[in-house]
Amino acid sequence: MRIRKIGVVGAGTMGAGIAALAASAGIPVVLLDIPGEGDRGGPARKGLERIAKSKPAAFMDPARASLITTGNTEDDLGLLADCDWVVEAIIEQPGPKQALYARLEELLGDHALITTNTSGIPMSVLVEGRGESFRRRFLGTHFFNPPRYLRLLEIIPTPETSPEALAALTAFGERMLGKGVVLARDVPGFIANRIGVFGSVQTMRLMEEHDLTIDEVDLINGPLTGRPKSATFRTADLSGLDILKHVRGGLAEATGEDFTMPKWALDLVDQGRLGEKTGAGFYSKQGKQIQTLDWKTGEYAPQQKPEIPGVAEIAKKPLADRIRGVLQLEGKYGAFARAQFARAWHYALEKAPELAYDIVGVDRALEWGFAFEAGPFRQMDAVGLDLVRQTMAEEGLDEPELLTKAGDRFYSEDGRTFLAFDGSRQTLPEAEGVISLASVRRAGGVLEENDEAALLDLGDGVALLEFRSKMGTLGEGVLRMIRAAIEHVDRDGRAGLVISHDDPRAFSAGANLVATLTAAREGRWDELEQSVRFFQDTVTGLRKAPFPVVVAPFGLTLGGGAEITLHADRVQAHAETYVGLVETGVGLLPAGGGTKELLFRFTSELQPYEESDLFDGVRRAFGIIAMATTSASALEARKLGFLREADRVSMNRDHLIADAKLRVLDLAPGYAPPPPRTIPALGQRAIGNLRYGVWSLHEGGQISDHEVLIATEIARVLCGGEGAPRQVSEQDILDLEREGFLRLLGTEKTQERIEYTLKTGKPLRN
Ligand code: NAD
Repeated sequence: MRIRKIGVVGAGTMGAGIAALAASAGIPVVLLDIPGEGDRGGPARKGLERIAKSKPAAFMDPARASLITTGNTEDDLGLLADCDWVVEAIIEQPGPKQALYARLEELLGDHALITTNTSGIPMSVLVEGRGESFRRRFLGTHFFNPPRYLRLLEIIPTPETSPEALAALTAFGERMLGKGVVLARDVPGFIANRIGVFGSVQTMRLMEEHDLTIDEVDLINGPLTGRPKSATFRTADLSGLDILKHVRGGLAEATGEDFTMPKWALDLVDQGRLGEKTGAGFYSKQGKQIQTLDWKTGEYAPQQKPEIPGVAEIAKKPLADRIRGVLQLEGKYGAFARAQFARAWHYALEKAPELAYDIVGVDRALEWGFAFEAGPFRQMDAVGLDLVRQTMAEEGLDEPELLTKAGDRFYSEDGRTFLAFDGSRQTLPEAEGVISLASVRRAGGVLEENDEAALLDLGDGVALLEFRSKMGTLGEGVLRMIRAAIEHVDRDGRAGLVISHDDPRAFSAGANLVATLTAAREGRWDELEQSVRFFQDTVTGLRKAPFPVVVAPFGLTLGGGAEITLHADRVQAHAETYVGLVETGVGLLPAGGGTKELLFRFTSELQPYEESDLFDGVRRAFGIIAMATTSASALEARKLGFLREADRVSMNRDHLIADAKLRVLDLAPGYAPPPPRTIPALGQRAIGNLRYGVWSLHEGGQISDHEVLIATEIARVLCGGEGAPRQVSEQDILDLEREGFLRLLGTEKTQERIEYTLKTGKPLRN
């Protein structure tokens, strides 16, 4: 079935967040809340206003708020009548939820799906009193806060839910909303919260027992052991200590299990120290300084970078070595880690069959809901099940049945099969519309490779170029592979090329500046000029290739990464793509065709209108480049002009590469590369106009002398150099890009900027 329009009831944190996500995906939404006193539509409207201002942004494009119609559940319930799916996200109490469903049952079409976002009320309680047709169309959809950013969507079918309803919502959740769907059983806390909250409260108690500080625990429980930077305590601060207390209370009551939080942590809630939202919790921010709670005294002191002996040696190793290393730390640190991991693993092993349909669901719930690098079963496989058994035995824990069934692994080495709860081995189904590069590589699909990049065969005549460098940085190896790929695809008569890869965070952080800085310091200018030219020729070569090139960026897509994106025939971007030409941050200008491409794009858009002022296009490119404007989503990248109307967006990262492959196949028949372009360049006078604006910023003390210089160089390129207006080719502008780049690179202040950014990862304003 097709879900064309959705209704959301409850315009609070979750309901408004879900509405913003659906609207970002282009789906019309009706958002209702209770009637307000006097202003009857107030609660829902205010819910929408609040979410529109939330940070990080709930909308991928603020303009999408216009897809949301608000109202109240007394006067406007009828607005839901033509919705294909209504999600309920009201107060967490059975009574009001049941009363709402009774009204929806009367109103909605007999195809409409009804779901609840409850965190803990059993589905069986919620459907009491409802008829058979309703029950077939009812299930749980448990989103995580904030719905845009947390990947996990737990879907909880009841025994009465129809397979069609389940399939329709799973597909919609994955495709349209971009979520990672995990099926959960109708049990308290479902999967992620049950295991996650158990882990958090255990950690707090073990920290007490082993006498560790919050800083020490968060060091152990952060990226070191494959968890997010926010580790245990900052994560709790972000979700709110009151929520944690409430959820753990509910879980203790519903399960009879031990979810005790230490007294000092409960006291924080009573004192209103609820975390981020009240400015203090386990951490507190004093101006720019972060302070950490001393849980023994309740006082805050400046955050410490703990020096735990042995940690530095393991920090850079693969996950398996890091977890093993942590378990072997000396003294109280190792003792804490062993106790914590043993309990967490034991709990997952014991509870998995009760909570989930398979171990894959458990792992994904923790990976997508809590940003674990690996869920508990993958962790255990990584460290080895003998060590898992030994650690549990030392902690006095028995061996759970599932561990015995596993023998020496949960997943096969190649990741293709896993242990089912009945002890059999099952094959992990390949999801539809998803291409796994790991599978392509395993199946011998590597056509060419070097240290930084590879060319893979995606089948059907489509090749894929993947960056393998850290953060997708563009060093010589990547550039050489781009050239090799163009040759290879042409030689083999393939349909076309996709450029993308499967790193979790960054498509590309831009050019590798280490070698550039060294060469500049050593005055090797001929070599630098050659290498910029090589970069430009490589990137523009993508446009000239006799077959379609589709770039599929995601996450950070900066500098050279943005320039590669700008030179694609079509872009297939993940919804969460942050594109920017950020070269000014390191005192340079985009010289890999980025300045040229924005100029040509913006001025040729204006050319068909005789009365149009080309300077508008120049000014637009200038603003974006000089300010290093970076998009906060793919939709925003389109508004900024980094993406064009014909470029497409994939909501789900898992579908990105398969979608890009389809684009190539779509473009391939009868493909011819775009012809070379020329445009009128505006010359000296336009430079003067741009400089006027720059000078006023300088006079106002907003930008430094060096920033005036950088902006002036950008203006020169965009106006086709000093002199009279003239017709320029793309190559003319590329030549100006290169000259400007090298001149800026020759300045001490730019070199300082580069050095600072390479050291700290942050920009320097000098
Ligand atoms: P919230 O308090 O922020 O919002 C609830 C909204 O529902 C309020 O705007 C309230 O006015 C409205 N409401 C209450 N009763 C209503 C009724 N009878 N009809 C219409 N509207 C009504 O709560 P929330 O955090 O958004 O939680 C909503 C649901 O999602 C709850 O079931 C909760 O357990 C669940 N949930 C919350 C989170 C979270 O992190 N906050 C995460 C997952 C699930």
